[in-house]
Amino acid sequence: MENVTRAKIWANVPEKDWNDWHWQIRNRVTNVKQLEDIIKLSRQDKTEIARCLSKFKMAISPYYASLMDKSDKKCPVRMQSVPTIFETRTADSDMHDPLHEDTDSPVYGITHRYPDRLIFMITDQCSMYCRHCTRRRTVGITDKRISDAQIDKCIEYIKKTKVIRDVVITGGDPLTLEDSVLEGVIKKIRAIKHVEIIRIGTRMPVVLPMRITKKLANMLQKYHPLWVNVHFNHPHEVTKEAAEACNILSREGIPLNNQSVLLKGVNDCPHIMKRLVHDLLMIRVRPYYLYQCDLSIGIEHFRTSIGKGIELMERLRGYTSGLAVPTFVIDAPSGGGKVPLMPEYMISRSDKKIIIRNYEGLIAAYTEPEKGESSCKKCHLCDNVFKEDNIGIAKLFSGKAVSLRPMDSKRGHEISGTKFHA
Ligand code: SF4
Repeated sequence: MENVTRAKIWANVPEKDWNDWHWQIRNRVTNVKQLEDIIKLSRQDKTEIARCLSKFKMAISPYYASLMDKSDKKCPVRMQSVPTIFETRTADSDMHDPLHEDTDSPVYGITHRYPDRLIFMITDQCSMYCRHCTRRRTVGITDKRISDAQIDKCIEYIKKTKVIRDVVITGGDPLTLEDSVLEGVIKKIRAIKHVEIIRIGTRMPVVLPMRITKKLANMLQKYHPLWVNVHFNHPHEVTKEAAEACNILSREGIPLNNQSVLLKGVNDCPHIMKRLVHDLLMIRVRPYYLYQCDLSIGIEHFRTSIGKGIELMERLRGYTSGLAVPTFVIDAPSGGGKVPLMPEYMISRSDKKIIIRNYEGLIAAYTEPEKGESSCKKCHLCDNVFKEDNIGIAKLFSGKAVSLRPMDSKRGHEISGTKFHA
């Protein structure tokens, strides 16, 4: 693990400025002219980048820009941060809002999809605009946070929606907010009795580790239980600076989970992925999700086949610690939420035995218990505490329904409050 070597143009910037996150944000690389001072660009590259910039924003922190290889167009850091002409192409399957975040938004700033949790998009600003961003329809549009009045409307929604126990503060990148502003929001959320945990989604430890100051971490720990999700995609991003940023958060008892995106040419290689997950564990970051790339506009060139993701999972499970293996998911189009995908490990089953195979190809029989019936006593938890779970498949398990039918099934009859007929 090494420190980043500054690109030449920033070689003489005083240490104090370089390590100041405000300086890093002020000096983000946002146009072709600045980019030319950092990496080699042909005339065609420049024209193509400029064309892309008329559609999507670019911003790269000097720290992250310094990680780029000057001449290699396939550098994984460059691929994630420098626009290409491919982004100007819209594939047939591309969608403006593939995850229906706007549709599932009861109030501007909030997406409420799952019963007990929601995401709170507090800003559209990021320190670096990732080329593969799923939320590119909104990020960077105003390059600032939502208004105080709008924040209060979102807080009101959380307050009155009593089933919410988990709030994910995201954006954009919420750590672009000043500590005091961020604390004001977190404090209000923490004051809501039914909110059990708060999560923050940020890419700062990866693209601008100077943002993770001891002061910030100390402020965050006052609002425990508080978790932070980060976004490392390639082992080159795991530098000494990034490790120290994660360490500052971990020392304040903040658990760190990583959400990678599977990106063609960046991390779609079993060896690179294995190196990444190992490096993450070394800096106390748990590999959490590996996302199949979404169907957002202009990022089809980053998409791999689903089979590639399954292969990566196949080549992690068993070959490394279970702790290092993320869950591979597709965020289902139309707001279906995360759907986990994995290789098949169960080969067959009868009422007595399950036939399974392991990563080496060993095939074994697991015998079911002779008395396999459930010991559930159907206590008050089923009907009262967890009654909101009685939708979808859980409804079948609970015995509250014997079948689910799509809305457009000719034989169905409508049940209010559920998207299925029962
Ligand atoms: S940091 Fe996150 S929200 Fe911001 S551009 Fe990157 S992926 Fe999108």
